Amino acid sequence: MDPRATYSCRNCQTPIAYRAELLSKSYMAKTGQAFLFSHARNIVFGQKQERNMITGVYTIAGIFCSNCGEELGWKYLQASEARQKFKEGKFIIERSKISKQY
Ligand SMILES: [Zn+2]
Repeated sequence: MDPRATYSCRNCQTPIAYRAELLSKSYMAKTGQAFLFSHARNIVFGQKQERNMITGVYTIAGIFCSNCGEELGWKYLQASEARQKFKEGKFIIERSKISKQY
C-alpha cells in the first residue's frame, strides 16, 4: 500500500487524510463502514455533543469539509471508558464520504 495515497472529500476532492494516517477500517457510522484516522485536514468542526455508542458514551464534534461543507464524520474529544481513551483526538470518517486517490 502506498502511504502517500490520499483520501479526499468525495464531493469536491479536497484532501482530507493520508493513507499513513489510517488506523482502522473496522468502524461503523450512519451510512455504513467508517475509517479511523489519526489526523485530518481541511475540515471544520460542528458543535460538541455527547453520543451513546455501543462501546460507551463519547463527547464528539461533527467534522465537515472546509471547502464544500459536506459532513464527513466526527472527532472523538472524550471517551468515558478507560479502554476507549485511545480514540480521543482521532477522527471517524465515513467511507461513503471520501474517495482514495494515488
Ligand atoms: Zn468537500
